[in-house]
Amino acid sequence: MCGIVGVYNSEEAANLVYLGLYALQHRGQESAGIATGDGKQIRQFRGMGLVADIFSEDVMKKLPGHCAIGHTRYATSGETVLCNAQPFVMNYAKGWLAIAHNGNLTNATKLRKELEAGGSIFQSSMDSEVFMHLIANEPERSLKDRIISACQDVEGAYSLLFLGEDLMIAVRDPYGWRPLVIGKKGDTYVVASETCALDLFGATFERAVEPGEVIIWNKEGMKSYMLPTKPARRAQCVFEYIYFARPDSDVFGRNVYQMRVGYGKELAKKHPTKADIVIPVPDSGVPAAIGYAAEAGLPFQMGLIRNHYVGRTFIEPQQSIRNFGVKLKLNPVREILKDKRVVVVDDSIVRGTTCKKIVGMLRRAGAKEIHMRISAPPTKWPCYYGIDTPTREELIAASHSIEETCKFIGADSLEYLTEDELFWFDKKPGEWFCDACFTGNYPTPVDIK
Ligand code: AMP
Repeated sequence: MCGIVGVYNSEEAANLVYLGLYALQHRGQESAGIATGDGKQIRQFRGMGLVADIFSEDVMKKLPGHCAIGHTRYATSGETVLCNAQPFVMNYAKGWLAIAHNGNLTNATKLRKELEAGGSIFQSSMDSEVFMHLIANEPERSLKDRIISACQDVEGAYSLLFLGEDLMIAVRDPYGWRPLVIGKKGDTYVVASETCALDLFGATFERAVEPGEVIIWNKEGMKSYMLPTKPARRAQCVFEYIYFARPDSDVFGRNVYQMRVGYGKELAKKHPTKADIVIPVPDSGVPAAIGYAAEAGLPFQMGLIRNHYVGRTFIEPQQSIRNFGVKLKLNPVREILKDKRVVVVDDSIVRGTTCKKIVGMLRRAGAKEIHMRISAPPTKWPCYYGIDTPTREELIAASHSIEETCKFIGADSLEYLTEDELFWFDKKPGEWFCDACFTGNYPTPVDIK
C-alpha cells in the first residue's frame, strides 16, 4: 500500500507535498520521494525510511517548481530497495514524466515480459514502471491519449499521479479500489490519497477523483476525462475502512473513525459477552473498541499501551533477549487488567501470531477471561489490489475454523463480524465494495498465491 499526494500551482509545491507525505506516512514507511516541475525540467529526491528522515532543508531547497508529486511506499510488489522508491521519473522522446502509484496491477508480469521482448529496459522491479513504458511507446499521440491507452492495457488497482514539467494528471482505475481526493487552497490544487493530507495544509475538500476519471491540470486550468472501460461494478476496498486509512480521513465519502466505531457497535450487538472492561489493541482497534464499549455499556480502558517509536526494522540486541516481537510494541497495564473479564478489540487477524502473543501477555498481566472481538470477517484470501497480505497458506482463517483459531490464540472466546454485519451502513446507489480478502470473490481474474 502507498500514499500519494500532488500539488499544482503553488510556489511552495514541494513543501506542501512534504507536509502531505507526513500526513500519509501510515500508508507506507519503507521509502518516500518527491518530484517537482518548474516548467522546464523535473527534479526528484527519493530515500529509504520515514519522510521526516529523508527530506532535510537542504534537500527541499533543491526541489523548486510550481507543481510536485510525492509518494510513501509500503512494498506489495518489488523489493525494498531505493530503485523501487517513487516517484519514478523518466526522460523520454516527449520530455520529462514522473509517476506516483497506489495500488497493484494484476497483469504487470505479463505486460513486462511483452515490453521487454520489444526492447524495453526496466530500472526497477515495480509493477508501476509498466505504465511508464506503455506511455513512452507511442510518442506520436498526446500524453492524455497515451495515458488512457496505457490504462486500457493494465488490469488491477491504480490511483495515479503523473507530473510533467508543467502539468499534473490524476487517474483512478474504473473499479475505484484506492481512494483519491481533490482539495483546493486559493488557486492551488491538491490531490491526495486521503483527506487528512488536505487538512494539514488547510486545503478544502472539493471532491473525489471518480473511478475511471482522468484529470489534467495545466496552464489552461483543470479538465476531466473518463476512461472508456466501464466495469459492471465498482470495487472500493473495504479494508481501507477496517485498517488502512487514518481515522480522521473521509474515505469513499464516509469518515473512517465513525465507520470503525460502527463496526465496534455492531460487534457488541451481534457478538456480546459478559465482561468487566473493553480494551483495544492500539492503535488500529481503538475506534471499534470505543464503539463496542458504548454499545455494551462497559468501561473502555487502555489496558495495552503502545510504544509509538518502534520502527519497522529493529536490531535485536543479543541472543538472550531475542524475539521481543509484540512486547516491544505493546505493554499491559496490570492494575487495569488484574482479575478482570476483558473484551479485547482488534481490527483483523492475519497469521494469528500477534493475537496469540497479546492473549498470552494479557493472561500474564492477570486478566481472568479474554474475549477477542475482531471488527472484520476472517481474512481468508490474499489481496492483489494493493494491501500487503501473505499467501493463503499463511492466513490462519484459510485453514482454521473460528473455534480452532480461538484455541490457537488461547482466548476464552473469539468472534468476528460477519459479511452482512460488515456492511451495516447504507450504501449509495451503485456503490460496491471489494471484500475479496474475506470472500475470495475477486472482481477481476487473479492467480491465487
Ligand atoms: P497477525 O499476527 O499476522 O495476525 O497480524 C494481525 C495484526 O496485523 C492486527 O493487529 C492488524 O491490525 C495488523 N494488520 C492487518 N493487516 C495488516 C497489513 N496489511 N499490514 C500490516 N499490519 C496489518
